[in-house]
Amino acid sequence: MQYPEPIAKLIESYMKLPGIGNKTATRLAFYTIDMQQDDVTDFAKALVAAQRDLHYCSICGNITEEDPCLICRDKQRDQSTVLVVETPKDIMTLERMHEYHGLYHVLHGVLSPIEGKGPKDINIASLLKRLQNDAIKEVIIATNATPEGEATATYLSRLIKPAGIKVTRLAHGLSVGSDIEYADEMTLMKAVEGRQEM
Ligand SMILES: [Zn+2]
Repeated sequence: MQYPEPIAKLIESYMKLPGIGNKTATRLAFYTIDMQQDDVTDFAKALVAAQRDLHYCSICGNITEEDPCLICRDKQRDQSTVLVVETPKDIMTLERMHEYHGLYHVLHGVLSPIEGKGPKDINIASLLKRLQNDAIKEVIIATNATPEGEATATYLSRLIKPAGIKVTRLAHGLSVGSDIEYADEMTLMKAVEGRQEM
């Protein structure tokens, strides 16, 4: 038996989300049908609004309602340090630590020859443009400890170091994205404090 069109469509939509297969999507779709109508309306509105109202900061690539983002506009922050991460989610993680007070830059991915992702496909050009500003003295690279993350860190280091800017990497190969669920804030803080020059 085939599902009626509306629920088939809903299942199909849920399956477009990462990590959700047919079984989970079907469960979520049936759950949605039984939800309060107001909750479903709020859910639908939130989906549309999140995409409509959020943009990428034109300076750092973070997600923001206003451009530039709050972090880039905050002159109280240390303007001499830029911490480079793979995704905006990593910024949220580091900010929860309340220990890092510099600036950020989001790459929106890593170099990946297998996926055909080269330097032009991630947010590197705008980072190099930022570094022309003399105020930046150190770039901390916090890409994940995956082969792609390491290769991206090495690539960036080779690009940035000749400009006389210090390039460091988080200590102990601890990365923000992949290991954070297993690392408490103290471990992450130590990884930032104990960062090593590349
Ligand atoms: Zn920003």
